[in-house]
Amino acid sequence: MRYGVVSDIHGNLEALKAVLGECRKLNVDSLLCCGDIAGYGADPKECLGLVRKLKAVAVAGNHDWAVSGKLDFSYFTPDGQAAVVWTRSHLAIEDIFYLNNLPLSLKNKDCTLVHGTLLNPQQFVYLTNETQAADTFALMDTQVCFVGHTHVPKVFIEREGNICQSDILDIELNAKYKYIVNLGSVGQPRDGNPLAGFCIYDTALRMIENHRVLYDINKAQQKILDTNLPETLALRLTRGE
Ligand code: ZN
Repeated sequence: MRYGVVSDIHGNLEALKAVLGECRKLNVDSLLCCGDIAGYGADPKECLGLVRKLKAVAVAGNHDWAVSGKLDFSYFTPDGQAAVVWTRSHLAIEDIFYLNNLPLSLKNKDCTLVHGTLLNPQQFVYLTNETQAADTFALMDTQVCFVGHTHVPKVFIEREGNICQSDILDIELNAKYKYIVNLGSVGQPRDGNPLAGFCIYDTALRMIENHRVLYDINKAQQKILDTNLPETLALRLTRGE
């Protein structure tokens, strides 16, 4: 099985289309999504439509839950709050139901998906250190867990209770190790690289590859500027931060 793993699409249709085009070229069989399909970008409805059409297996992000009324606004920055309000008013009721029904975590035989952490996933904590990684490793019964939320690619690797982290996401899976892979963000990267990010997970080759793909950033920005979403949500796409 070759999975395409995406996260934090954030209503950026140009980035999502570029990633899906690359996934087709890379012979992806199935799409996995670690949440935040909606929020920030100007095309939440179109992005949700594509994710649903492709039957992506998805978990909820904080924006997805806030838009569907399951997470309080106080969680968010002012820009985040503005994006939640705007996004909610630009979705159909079936989109809201879809977001409302997304689980906080799920697993299949090959991996686990969660937006932030497996410990208290409803709190949407940023998984950034070894202590948080240890809590998630303790709850994993698959070798690999994919996460998003920080918009910064990173992998945590555990062997017999020892944990290390790396920014290099191209991994040959070792049967003795467990992995938490943050694959970055499709629609709003924050690692200083504005290219849309995603992963390929090949279960036969036992490999995970990180990919970055160029997309029409100007078009995505202009669409945001043409709405009453905060201008900073457009400007940050150029900087990838
Ligand atoms: Zn996000």
